[in-house]
Amino acid sequence: MAGSVRGTREEHRYMKEHEFTCSECGQQITVNEGMREAIVSSGCPVCGAAATDAQFAPIDTGE
Ligand SMILES: [Zn+2]
Repeated sequence: MAGSVRGTREEHRYMKEHEFTCSECGQQITVNEGMREAIVSSGCPVCGAAATDAQFAPIDTGE
């Protein structure tokens, strides 16, 4: 899986991913930091519903 490169704590923070769950269409999407910001400003990529920061759950890939 994606566990082959653990990286440092700093790297982990940089590569942090979130799981976005749309409140309108229910779509769950794993996003990186850049995509998270894009969705917050542009809305759900599937249905276009407005998204807030609260709809993103951090995913811990390390630890
Ligand atoms: Zn949606």
